[in-house]
Amino acid sequence: MKYKSIEFLKQYFKSIVNDECKAIIDKVFDDYKINKDKEIYENYIEYKNNEKINELINSEMRCLGLIKSGEQCARSRSNGRCYCKIHQKTLKFGKKIIN
Ligand SMILES: [Zn+2]
Repeated sequence: MKYKSIEFLKQYFKSIVNDECKAIIDKVFDDYKINKDKEIYENYIEYKNNEKINELINSEMRCLGLIKSGEQCARSRSNGRCYCKIHQKTLKFGKKIIN
């Protein structure tokens, strides 16, 4: 993967997972002759998937360092550690606690 920003990873996973789910739902609609409803795609695929992917990215791939505003750092982790390159050196504003 060439680009490793958090935003890139989110979009990358969302497009893969949403496309796969859409293909499955399309097949169910066709096989059971159900009318394709845009609302079903939005409520049951995109909304749920996006929520799960955001959670996954934030807990598994995003740096756990906190920035000045108290928000979680927006960079991705590096070298298999819990922090980005900058936060591996210093955690000036603390770190995020994951339950
Ligand atoms: Zn960081």
